[in-house]
Amino acid sequence: MAIKDILLLGDPDLFESSQPVEEAELEQAVRTGRDLADTMERFRYKRGWGRAISAPQIGVRKRIIFLKVDEPWLIINPEVSDPSDETMEIWDDCMSFPDLLVKVERHVSFTMKWRDENWELHEKRIEGLFSELLQHEIDHLDGILAVSRAINGNSFALQSQRDKIPGAVFANNPAAAAV
Ligand SMILES: [Zn+2]
Repeated sequence: MAIKDILLLGDPDLFESSQPVEEAELEQAVRTGRDLADTMERFRYKRGWGRAISAPQIGVRKRIIFLKVDEPWLIINPEVSDPSDETMEIWDDCMSFPDLLVKVERHVSFTMKWRDENWELHEKRIEGLFSELLQHEIDHLDGILAVSRAINGNSFALQSQRDKIPGAVFANNPAAAAV
């Protein structure tokens, strides 16, 4: 277990696609999950927010996501299907560009298949809070950043200016996330 450096916007590796985890690599994937947990914990301590992180953000090009809202959740090889026609607009943030907010459009819900830390396969309809969070993280696995999904040229704001954005819905509420 170790705290890793989080790759920052401008690092070309963030735009690379990640490879699926093979069953024989499960042990290593679980170790990567612990590194992700430690790295995110450190980020939360410093910045007061952060609920999910992907392996490529710490330089590991494997399809692994670690998420923690209430319980820790390790997601290996997520696959998306049946995204809802209904979408939402949201001001998104990212640990790879922590001072920036980007307005993006996300599906309200989708179906996700994934493997867990025991290599068991799961399938679930993902909605609400987890929906935008996981669409963001799965994008990372495909080398897509929220800045690439900006709705238009006016879809950028500094975190310090968030109170000035009229009627904004934020992906991350630092006050809530700090609990
Ligand atoms: Zn991100």
